[in-house]
Amino acid sequence: MKKNIVVLPGDGIGPEIVDGALTILDKTAAKYGHKFYYDMIEVGGCSIDKYGVPITSENMEKCRNADSVLLGAVGGPKWDTVDPLLRPEKALLAIRRELGLFANLRPTRLFTQLGGASPLKDSITSAGIDLVIVRELTGGIYFGEHKTCEVPEKTATDIMTYSEHEIERIGRVAFEAAMKRRKKLTSVDKANVLDTSKLWREIMHRLAAEYPEVEYSDLYVDNAAMQLIRDPGRFDVIVTENMFGDILSDEASMLTGSIGMMPSASLSGGTCGMYEPIHGSAPDIAGKDIANPLGTILSAAMMLKYSFGLDEEAQAIETAVDQVLSDGFRTADIVSDDTIQVGCREMCRRVTEAL
Ligand code: NAD
Repeated sequence: MKKNIVVLPGDGIGPEIVDGALTILDKTAAKYGHKFYYDMIEVGGCSIDKYGVPITSENMEKCRNADSVLLGAVGGPKWDTVDPLLRPEKALLAIRRELGLFANLRPTRLFTQLGGASPLKDSITSAGIDLVIVRELTGGIYFGEHKTCEVPEKTATDIMTYSEHEIERIGRVAFEAAMKRRKKLTSVDKANVLDTSKLWREIMHRLAAEYPEVEYSDLYVDNAAMQLIRDPGRFDVIVTENMFGDILSDEASMLTGSIGMMPSASLSGGTCGMYEPIHGSAPDIAGKDIANPLGTILSAAMMLKYSFGLDEEAQAIETAVDQVLSDGFRTADIVSDDTIQVGCREMCRRVTEAL
């Protein structure tokens, strides 16, 4: 298989972690007889420095034409004071919009070797944590009208809107994801209060009838926030709207021990997606060769699975990561007394070797 991947290393630790992920993709390609072509482009702060904008229209066109997009991270203190319309993160919002990336998938898996790094008690983590949050990414309150009136007193309003087709398409992504996993889906809403949630629930129930093999349930968002801490092992796939997903996925990320471990995928109805670790550009550790590259490596594995249908190759990368952790190698963010600390480059080398 031949694929064109647009690569956006970005700022801070972005170039270090992406560099490592590309070595692992190359090894995977060599092992399974594929060829991945990389088009490296600037995005975020480095693009502002070079072109005055977070992404140029020419580079956006390259993303549109790619088979898939791999991102490191953007931003940093150097660009905190630029015009808000030109901030580095604007590039990511623009790519999501241009590529129609309406579904964000965040797998939350606690590698058994990292049990001690999770803030939860052993009695909870021993049951295992392996869930995926499917978050709607382009609708809801973040994309509704925002306004502030001055009279008769200062009043602010944010409008949350969801239409049937927006709910149905994210619902289908979630049901399909559940079918590929343990066939359990929890839909999170606030249907006791919000009309958008009532519609959400109605459409999810309609879809549930189409997927009789999936064990479906509803949960109010406040209860879901509690259950993620009390009993995360009960979840397989969670589907929810934009703002609830934003909050719950950050909560879930803490369960895995380090933000550096978590991959993500943003998908459209087609095969092109954008894959990135969930963390930012970590300017405090950039250039020190201590960043954890595993979230980016696992994002590359997600790309193989969700965009290219290369399930076996994706599994091979996950197994290699698992192997390196079992061998006791850790970056600084996940190191413990009885393990061996390695840098970002060394961690990537070990994963490549384990493939
Ligand atoms: P951050 O995720 O960059 O860092 C938070 C903390 O986690 C830091 O202490 C950092 O050192 C640590 N960390 C992050 N990734 C790590 C890794 N792979 N290995 C080890 N430690 C890691 O969040 P922040 O400090 O709030 O933001 C820094 C910059 O990143 C800001 O400019 C922010 O706007 C931007 N940002 C970008 C994205 C993105 O590109 N998708 C996402 C979030 C934040």
